[in-house]
Amino acid sequence: MIKHKRIKMELLKDKKVLVSGASFAGLSTAYWMNKFGYQVTVVEIADGLKMGGTPVNIEGHTIDIVKRMGIFEQIRSNRLGMEMLEFKNADDVTEGAMLLKREGQELSDDAFEIERNTLLTLLFDTVKNDVEFIFSNSIAALEESGDKIDVSFRDGTQQSFDLVFGCDGIHSAVRKIWFGNEADYLHFLGQYFSITIVNKLLIKQNTTQFYNVPDKAVMLNGYNNKTDIIFCFRSEMEIPYDYRDEEQQRQIILEQFKGQGWRTAELLEEVRASNIFYFDKLCQIKMPSWTKGRVALVGDAGYCASPAAGMGGSLAIDGAAALADAFQQHSGNFELAFQAYNKNFRPFIEAVQAKVVQMGLDALVPRTEEAIRKRNTEGFGF
Ligand SMILES: Cc1cc2nc3c(=O)[nH]c(=O)nc-3n(C[C@H](O)[C@H](O)[C@H](O)COP(=O)(O)OP(=O)(O)OC[C@H]3O[C@@H](n4cnc5c(N)ncnc54)[C@H](O)[C@@H]3O)c2cc1C
Repeated sequence: MIKHKRIKMELLKDKKVLVSGASFAGLSTAYWMNKFGYQVTVVEIADGLKMGGTPVNIEGHTIDIVKRMGIFEQIRSNRLGMEMLEFKNADDVTEGAMLLKREGQELSDDAFEIERNTLLTLLFDTVKNDVEFIFSNSIAALEESGDKIDVSFRDGTQQSFDLVFGCDGIHSAVRKIWFGNEADYLHFLGQYFSITIVNKLLIKQNTTQFYNVPDKAVMLNGYNNKTDIIFCFRSEMEIPYDYRDEEQQRQIILEQFKGQGWRTAELLEEVRASNIFYFDKLCQIKMPSWTKGRVALVGDAGYCASPAAGMGGSLAIDGAAALADAFQQHSGNFELAFQAYNKNFRPFIEAVQAKVVQMGLDALVPRTEEAIRKRNTEGFGF
């Protein structure tokens, strides 16, 4: 048995895989494929890791996975300790609050929150010496021929790989090239959001505050001397915008929230002046299969549940582990592994996506004054 495994490992050493995207899905997939003995290359369109974003939750099944990946202790020692969630009215009066942790109370070991940048760096550190990284480049075309897949890159170079993993996020290039138009898989959830991060505390450290009017939400997250400023609004119709034009996206937020109460005017000034700004529509990706031929999608590229799920980072880590488990179960036979990945991971994804639509959207952005007052006094029910 041991001899058989060694032969398999030696065979894998000659096998090359390409991962598109160096974020949670891409770095986790690179980790597992490298561990199995594949030669791994990661291509990332940005000139380094794409930093920024709100903290990531690690809980439930994902805790076991990060233990298997050897990064649990670092996650534990870098964890945030959010203490209070408050619901504010226009006069900054707290209408309701949820105590997350008492002062001096030990944090429980069944849920962890960690800064997005810290977790990204931790994941990068697990693979940086064993995996080849190509930054500022991207896959331009894919062609499968026999037992290889030929990849043409944006810079004009070409290489052949055994497998390609599309881990390049919600607007995945691999999905567009290999599986078809984004519109065939993207389900708009009727909301837009922006995230701005400022390097100062606008509210008490380790606190979250919500302010709502019907169909609009403002959320502040204070931690580690930073504040996340999140604006979210409903729009039944899709708003046309250029996803590369950040100024245009800022304008959409400034117009939507102009004249609103609470601290909105001051927060819009922060948005105007900030250099960390992220805007997108809330949407989910739903596909009948996450694999085709020698290509598989992992994370947001295949099954984004939307930021309203609050678990984009952990779903990507879970997905890479589900793929790895399938490879282990089928001793590297990628066809059987891809089938198992599609079958075994799907019920979990479907449940998460359904829960966001049923509960998450209305809880974050209630539609009426009555629903806001009820949510403010009763909380989220967890
Ligand atoms: C800068 C940034 C900030 C974010 N902030 C938040 C947040 O505040 N709250 C939240 O809920 N979610 C946020 N997200 C989304 C969140 O990170 C994902 O939901 C989750 O982590 C899933 O991870 P992923 O690896 O599948 O996708 P992502 O984290 O989106 O990573 C995709 C990676 O692929 C790269 N990429 C894109 N196109 C190509 C291409 N053509 N070729 C090669 N590489 C490509 C991207 O640069 C990125 O590094 C953010 C994502 C990014 C990129």
